[in-house]
Amino acid sequence: MITDDYGRPVTSMRIQVNTTCNFKCFFCHMEGTGVHSEKMTPGEIERIVEIGHNMGVNSIKFTGGEPLMRNDIVDIVRRTRKHITGDISMTTNGFMLPVYAEKLKEAGLDRINISFHSLERESFQFITGTDSMDKVIEGIKAAKTAGIDPIKLNFVVLKEVNEDQIQRLVNLSALLGVRVQFIEYETTRENINSEDFQKYHVDLNPIEKEVIRSAVEVKHNILHNRPRYIVETENGYADVEFVKPMMNSDFCNHCTRIRVTSTGLLKPCLMRNDNYTDILREVRNGNSEERLINIYRKAVKGREPYWRENYEDSGEVLRTFQGYNGN
Ligand code: SAM
Repeated sequence: MITDDYGRPVTSMRIQVNTTCNFKCFFCHMEGTGVHSEKMTPGEIERIVEIGHNMGVNSIKFTGGEPLMRNDIVDIVRRTRKHITGDISMTTNGFMLPVYAEKLKEAGLDRINISFHSLERESFQFITGTDSMDKVIEGIKAAKTAGIDPIKLNFVVLKEVNEDQIQRLVNLSALLGVRVQFIEYETTRENINSEDFQKYHVDLNPIEKEVIRSAVEVKHNILHNRPRYIVETENGYADVEFVKPMMNSDFCNHCTRIRVTSTGLLKPCLMRNDNYTDILREVRNGNSEERLINIYRKAVKGREPYWRENYEDSGEVLRTFQGYNGN
């Protein structure tokens, strides 16, 4: 297993299989850009997975764009399963799950995150630019029927847009028998003062405190090193997590992830666009395993915690940061 210069093992890979999406979420951070105009073929993705696996990766997450906009996505999952014995998961907007859920499960997909940012038609449309809430609910049910487990709903909390829906979403998740993950709206250091971020960002700490008060049990999510709260609702028990990457050095300290952009660049950190290494070019040139491993090592060398204990851009940022770490 390979560790970076900060002692963090790299055991998981997040692969962006495309940049195309049928939703237009206004807050979406596109996960990376690149130099090739073509996307990776299933065979090329398999080769990159194989290299990662040989270097200690044993869990893969597919993302996009929208991964289910690729009609070869089932083949990609099947090829990945040949190498990975650990978790294979996917983040999707759920729209195409009625078509793909069963095939994905059969190909080897273990778990799934379905973005579901509102349970009110109007705000769903405001956030995603589409009137597809019912279709996504159908997708959640299809994943359930296919036996994909766990299913997690990703809900980015947005000020005055959906922050009043938290309890209802917890109730709904218990009813559907799925987990829910409240995600803090994140941005880069440079965009902290942007109009959108200032307008919609919500500090999740007070919300998490409320949930802790009503939790009957606290479990530990080993994969992500964070608590999961079991909460009693009118529909039975719900399973709730909080994802708070913003200015959270603990989040970065426990990061085990290397990313691959849709154009085959290794990306050491979600928040940075300045330290890619091009592994696809090497794969396409048919270069040796040794050469590919060197490229991979170079990318791991580029990993640095983005949010650090001593991050201090301005007094205001530092105060917020301390708030995050002091609970
Ligand atoms: N299209 C897929 C989907 O909708 O899930 C996969 C790609 S999307 C970028 C992956 C996840 O990142 C989604 O749950 C999305 O809500 C989340 N995300 C995107 N931009 C974000 C941001 N600025 N802050 C927090 N989460 C974000």
